[in-house]
Amino acid sequence: MDAAERIKKLEDEISRLKGDIVRVPIETMSAEVRDSNPYSRLMALQKMGIVENYQRIRDFTVAIVGVGGVGSVASEMLTRCGIGKLILFDYDKVELANMNRLFFQPHQSGQSKVDAAVQTLKKINPDVQFEQYNFDITTTDNFPLFLNAVSSGSLSGSAVDLVLSCVDNFEARMTVNMACNELGQNWFESGVSEQAVSGHIQFIQPGTSACFACAPPLLVADDSLDEKSLKKPGVCAASLPTTMAVVAGFLIQNTLKYLLGFGQVSDYLGYNALSDFFPTMSLKPNEQCDDCHCRKRQQEAAERRRANESSGVEEKKEKKEEKVVHDSNDWGIELVSETSEDIPNGDHSNLPSLAAKSGLKYAYMSAPGTYENPSRDQTQSNAAATTTNESLDDLMSQLKML
Ligand SMILES: [Zn+2]
Repeated sequence: MDAAERIKKLEDEISRLKGDIVRVPIETMSAEVRDSNPYSRLMALQKMGIVENYQRIRDFTVAIVGVGGVGSVASEMLTRCGIGKLILFDYDKVELANMNRLFFQPHQSGQSKVDAAVQTLKKINPDVQFEQYNFDITTTDNFPLFLNAVSSGSLSGSAVDLVLSCVDNFEARMTVNMACNELGQNWFESGVSEQAVSGHIQFIQPGTSACFACAPPLLVADDSLDEKSLKKPGVCAASLPTTMAVVAGFLIQNTLKYLLGFGQVSDYLGYNALSDFFPTMSLKPNEQCDDCHCRKRQQEAAERRRANESSGVEEKKEKKEEKVVHDSNDWGIELVSETSEDIPNGDHSNLPSLAAKSGLKYAYMSAPGTYENPSRDQTQSNAAATTTNESLDDLMSQLKML
């Protein structure tokens, strides 16, 4: 092959990789069944009676924080579903070490994740609007920018319809939590365990359900320690494309149900891959939550309930949650946490030695004698029990009977 042929071949390859947009934007979603209609199968949800008005999806804006193993797949799903607008946040670059997961491709290595994602997603669906932020939301400089994007980033200039947290660390989760509590913004938390064999999603409505600070993991890094320094050199968390995709699927399935108003949105849905177990539960907010905005949202929710009660209006959502707490919550309490896998079930005798480690502290301390036989999820069950008038002892005795 001579030089001219090689140049031609390389030019062709470059234009193939750049991938010109293959279709023009579509004004109105059509239900017409033809091979060239990208929305026919989605619009069929209307014909099947599942969704009343699928086209409403074009009015919605979703913000995704973290475009890694879960966030990138979640953003692709929403793009293919024809969401109105996506706002992406991440400060990482694509690396070859990410290739065990879905979505990103080797030639994107070195590119920022948000730029690489938008580049791909625009080609998949040119009808979706994108906005991307290549920064760390946890810094003091960027937090106000994050707040602003969430509170005014929708297609109409108002707050986004939903925030999806797909981050991989405690600090970023707490930042999303803080912002959403401050704004009264509904959001989903999601996570996959370091062993790659369990995960969860949690729907958080500030003031109505437990926020991330209401029931955090038992052991967290204190202010003197950078969370990232806890990672051992040469050791990284495991990850499987399967577990990530399952969690992303749960997340977007519930996002679609929430936005389009069909089915029932799960408050908490866990996934244990080793036994294919899917616990669900509901968590009431903790009245003593560390986050002042959470406590403020709880007061507002209580005032709304009182106003509704006095005017004789029933809050259907509240009634539904009460039912779940007393029904399936009993099953969910013991099995949902992947944040403290190293703590033997029902045995916290080794916790003092863990906390003695420099830079670690307990997120919550219980008064001596409060719990006879605390489970590893005692903070979560406490958050639920606080407002249901069921003591932890009651819940424990129910668990023992199972
Ligand atoms: Zn809270």
